[in-house]
Amino acid sequence: MTHCSSTRRLRVAPFCRGVVSLALAVVSSIASAQAPGGAARFATDVEKLITTDYAGVEAIYKDIHAHPELAMEEVNTAKKLAVAMRELGFEVTEGIGKTGIVAMLRNGTGPTIMVRTELDALPMEEKTGLPYASKIKTNYNGKETYVAHSCGHDLHMAAWVGTAKTLVALKDRWKGTLMFIAQPAEETLSGAKPMLADGLFTRFGKPDVAFALHAWPMAAGEIGLNSGPVLTGSDAFEARFFGRGAHGSAPDKSIDPVLMASRFVVDVQSVVSREKDPFQFGVFTVGSIQGGTAGNIIPDAVDLRGTIRSLDKTVRNRMHDGIRRAAKATALLAAAPEPEVKIIPGVDSVVNDAAIVNRTEALLKTAFDPTRVKRMPPATPTDDFAEFVSAGVPSMFFFIGVLDPKDVDASRQPGGKPLPINHSPYFAPVPEPSLKTGIKAMSLAVLGALTQ
Ligand SMILES: [Zn+2]
Ligand SMILES: [Zn+2]
Repeated sequence: MTHCSSTRRLRVAPFCRGVVSLALAVVSSIASAQAPGGAARFATDVEKLITTDYAGVEAIYKDIHAHPELAMEEVNTAKKLAVAMRELGFEVTEGIGKTGIVAMLRNGTGPTIMVRTELDALPMEEKTGLPYASKIKTNYNGKETYVAHSCGHDLHMAAWVGTAKTLVALKDRWKGTLMFIAQPAEETLSGAKPMLADGLFTRFGKPDVAFALHAWPMAAGEIGLNSGPVLTGSDAFEARFFGRGAHGSAPDKSIDPVLMASRFVVDVQSVVSREKDPFQFGVFTVGSIQGGTAGNIIPDAVDLRGTIRSLDKTVRNRMHDGIRRAAKATALLAAAPEPEVKIIPGVDSVVNDAAIVNRTEALLKTAFDPTRVKRMPPATPTDDFAEFVSAGVPSMFFFIGVLDPKDVDASRQPGGKPLPINHSPYFAPVPEPSLKTGIKAMSLAVLGALTQ
């Protein structure tokens, strides 16, 4: 399966120095044919390098796909990446934010560009039937659970190594510092903060620009991007309504917290529909109501849990305020004690820097079929890449299509089969076009930032 014949678990196989030097030879033979000019001149060279090294990158992808690890347990995954990056000449520090790694490559005076991949997989069973499907099980919250890379983080890791490899091979054409980071626990939105707390930007330097890409249920070969907010911010909601318990047949002797909770869940949606700007995105979902033990007992309290999603700070504050007010008003209406309301700040929305997006978009449109590089509206998920952006790093987070274009077309026909999206047990990226697109797009994005 790989160019190099070492081990089945491919610790070193895809990164054989032979491949790198072959790649370098390809570059030097074509470099002279390139006209100087914008960073678009790199496109042909990048493409040739990717083709030369592709088998190794796909082997990394399939290996990581078959051996997923959950958030903050990504020990073997991080090790594989650390080995790969050392082989490429990066200075690698492990254990940043528990299992995260930071790989630095200094190549003269110039900007520092950060590229992030995630490390973690999901506690779920893969049902793709692929020959390299995960069969791994682990203990999760005290229960034996399957683990699967159903969000594409495995693809991001392989593309991250592939990008590093391409940039190393083109080292004599740019100056600056590469800061490749592998972040734990993205799925739990709890990996970026520990990396920052562990001195990511103080020990290794604050990057001038940061990039991240994400697999997306579009046709492989397509790229989605936008300026401004691209992923939502998320805050957690917890509340307890206090009532007075009584017999179910005597509601007049009670203050009924079940009724309060029900009324709140309905009334609070007016915050979304009437208080926030209708042109702005905002979602409030109560996903859990817990209260009572039996049908004939009015309990004395009910607990609610929910999630608040927004893109814009004003909307976010307005929703927080409205949700608190709706909870208080519900209790007041029932003559109940004031409820406990907690809004636990989660993660900001990921906001892309317009100048970086415009420059990268222009570059990608010359290097790819321009009709396949598309502006896309913000997506509703959340990613704690936002922590790096909020720490003041101008950034760009973009999306690459990973599904078979035939399946995407079929899904658009009347009665067509819905596409398996991220977190579906059937999520099955097509490796080659997805990886090649990811590596080419990310390599060009970084080269654009290094050579502008
Ligand atoms: Zn995910
Ligand atoms: Zn993800």
